[in-house]
Amino acid sequence: MEEIYSRLGVSPAVYQYGEAVLHTLRERFAAIDRTAEYNQGKVLLSMQENRVNATHFAATTGYGYDDEGRDNLERVYAGVFHTESALVRPQITCGTHALTVALSANLLPGDELLSPVGAPYDTLEEVIGIRKSKCSLKEYGVTYAQADLQADGSFDYDAIRAAINGRTKLITIQRSKGYATRPSFSVAQIGELIAFCKAVKPDVKVMVDNCYGEFVETQEPSDLGADMVVGSLIKNPGGGLAPIGGYICGTKACVERCAYRLSAPGLGQEVGANLGLMPAFYQGLFLAPTVVAGALKGAVFAAGIYEGLGFPCIPTAAEDRHDIIQAVTLGSREAMLAFCCGIQAAAPVDSYVTPEPWAMPGYDSDVVMAAGAFVQGSSIELSADGPIRPPYAVYFQGGLTWYHAKLGILMSLQKLTEAGLAKLPG
Ligand SMILES: *Cc1c(COP(=O)(O)O)cnc(C)c1O
Repeated sequence: MEEIYSRLGVSPAVYQYGEAVLHTLRERFAAIDRTAEYNQGKVLLSMQENRVNATHFAATTGYGYDDEGRDNLERVYAGVFHTESALVRPQITCGTHALTVALSANLLPGDELLSPVGAPYDTLEEVIGIRKSKCSLKEYGVTYAQADLQADGSFDYDAIRAAINGRTKLITIQRSKGYATRPSFSVAQIGELIAFCKAVKPDVKVMVDNCYGEFVETQEPSDLGADMVVGSLIKNPGGGLAPIGGYICGTKACVERCAYRLSAPGLGQEVGANLGLMPAFYQGLFLAPTVVAGALKGAVFAAGIYEGLGFPCIPTAAEDRHDIIQAVTLGSREAMLAFCCGIQAAAPVDSYVTPEPWAMPGYDSDVVMAAGAFVQGSSIELSADGPIRPPYAVYFQGGLTWYHAKLGILMSLQKLTEAGLAKLPG
């Protein structure tokens, strides 16, 4: 084993440190496997109940009327997320697009959007109009209110109650930390927050940005009262096979509006050819619980490795996981770049290139990204990224297989030690 790792570029000392860390994580890995087993059952059950068969994999083009493969995939998603309805489409280009569709379909001029969990994900700032942007919700007369989290990361219920008013139409809850160093929320915590908001205002709608959270637990926010859960197919639920797409699962009333917003009033869910992507969407969903388990093991392993060397990790190796993201605070631009170089060097694709920071659209500081993915930008594949700003934290996620995630983390450490930016114990 050491020989193959050494040919891949990992020194025996780094490999052995990794094995020692791994030894302490056995119980965590067993728990991750149990969640994956349950979620595999959940996906299979929905596929069986919806009688998935080979005709559902046929390609459609043009308008895509009567696309039974697409319509049945949406029933399968609704079955997995326990919702009345679902919109799962290659025409939804990414997670930000899915969230934009969900928000703009369900907010009208004069309505207010509330985030009770502090600032939303970077790209949503322009969608909402927190940062000035053409076609933002703000331009259409939708206002935005925010209740920040308390210093310890918990919900500020007094501030939330005070922020809910007669115009509050939709509440947006982001499950994953995104590019922040707050903790991610468990489904149970999100359920409590939803119950609180609906007790204050029974007719308020709740949308959960579910990006990176799918299949991490056995329940989803839609099991605990969310009207919509929204995410990207090039993250968890695409299982690494979906080459594009997004989903919105929720109540019939909310999802129907989303379909009209995505296509056109009057057309809704009836149009939208599947372009031959159904095999990837179905099979990706089938694999997703296992792929997410591999990514979670990688995240726990990364925390174990870097905590042991004195770098702050969110979450820690011992903490419960609510998403597949691992934040490691490296403290300097150089260390961020070295970490990302290691992830890149471990990739099956583009392993020979060097990641460079760039001004990515939608983000307000330079971002460095390492990924050598089969699907461009896919972050269920092994990837690391982060905005180049204090506290210089990298966000590590993905890995279609646990073994690849493991190699990536060992390579990142290899690069840091070679640059003198980290020192192995002993
Ligand atoms: C990735 C992500 C998004 C946006 O998704 P894109 O596909 O990159 O547009 C939104 N919210 C969260 C929490 C995310 O992790």
